[in-house]
Amino acid sequence: MNAAPASLRDEFPLLAATPELHYLDSAATAQIHRLALDAVVRHETTRRANVSRGTYRLAEAADLAYEQARQTAARFLNATSTDEVIFTSGATASLNLVAHAFGGTLKAGDRVVISVAEHHSNFVPWQMLRERTGIELALIPVTAAGQLDLARLPELIDSKCRLVAVTQCSNVTGAWTDVATLVTAARKVGAKVLLDGAQGAQHGPQDVRALGIDFYAFSGHKCFGPGGVGMLWGRGELLAAMPPFLTGGGMIGEVTPQATTWAAPPQRFEAGTPPIAQAVGLAAALEWMMSLDWPQIHAREARLCELMIEGLQRIPGLRLLGPEAQEARAPIVSFEIPGLHPHDICQVLDAHQLALRGGHHCAQPLLAALGAEVCTRASIALYNDEADIAALLDGLGFVLRELA
Ligand code: PLP
Repeated sequence: MNAAPASLRDEFPLLAATPELHYLDSAATAQIHRLALDAVVRHETTRRANVSRGTYRLAEAADLAYEQARQTAARFLNATSTDEVIFTSGATASLNLVAHAFGGTLKAGDRVVISVAEHHSNFVPWQMLRERTGIELALIPVTAAGQLDLARLPELIDSKCRLVAVTQCSNVTGAWTDVATLVTAARKVGAKVLLDGAQGAQHGPQDVRALGIDFYAFSGHKCFGPGGVGMLWGRGELLAAMPPFLTGGGMIGEVTPQATTWAAPPQRFEAGTPPIAQAVGLAAALEWMMSLDWPQIHAREARLCELMIEGLQRIPGLRLLGPEAQEARAPIVSFEIPGLHPHDICQVLDAHQLALRGGHHCAQPLLAALGAEVCTRASIALYNDEADIAALLDGLGFVLRELA
């Protein structure tokens, strides 16, 4: 275990170079770890070549690095096989891949169950699938605290249900999903389960086998890696039965003027030149994440989150969105201050070296269900500390004095 939380900030080049910055927007993009950045630079300066094509040594070195990155990702996810791990451009691309490729195996009248709490990237692809194929799209509602209302499962997850596709953790409220209950309900009727891990994977290595799910999607830029890369994990037998999503080079068995056959997964789902250096950088970030003491990090993040919530609750009129119980949420906290627009709040905070996100957070159905149009979000990652929380609470004092 090499986690030394007090010095973690120094391991992130941008944060080390800007000691005055209080970065509280890691749910949007986490800062890149030095090892991930180094791995990208090393790859681009010593092994840059296309993969799966070349027979010269440089291309073979690129191939090896890319496939080693896949092995690292498979370990991070505890996948059964590296063939179950597909590199994509990010969680959005992974989710669209499933909606098209697995969605292509569904027929009119089959039901896909998502939730009101989804990010638009796990919402809109299913609406589009409904338009293309006539599937039924059903929504698990949320409670007043933004948690999935699991009491509604029996009427939604029945014999018509083919897939349950939900977020592991809300990007607005931080609410964790009770995956075990969903998986049990889905298994009873033979439905598959897709977990949008965009907010989950940042909080530690995953065990897709223990979760009992069928698909898992996440983004590299939220896991301390580079942008432009993400993952889709899928159970081998499901991937093997799925048609491709994007088509082109690298994903074929044979092309003749009459017809084309597909390569086996994962290549079937990696048409065109993949994000090679980004995958290598992401693998370095995941390797680093696998070396950390996560129970210690979770305890620390939870303490900071509690401190932030206590401070926010002292602000007259401020409304917190999301679960009360600390263990039910990741360190993502959204709030409304009556009469103040989040964009104005964030601008004033920016002037005080605070980076927060304000808006609808690509989750308009969730915000509508919570009775809000927009809100301000502070998200904590493993490099944040008490000084960031104190600066936020001071900053909100300035906001109230300047804007209220
Ligand atoms: N799902 C959730 C829950 C998210 O929070 C996000 C991004 O914020 C996404 C999906 C989409 O991720 P990306 O923009 O990296 O594709």
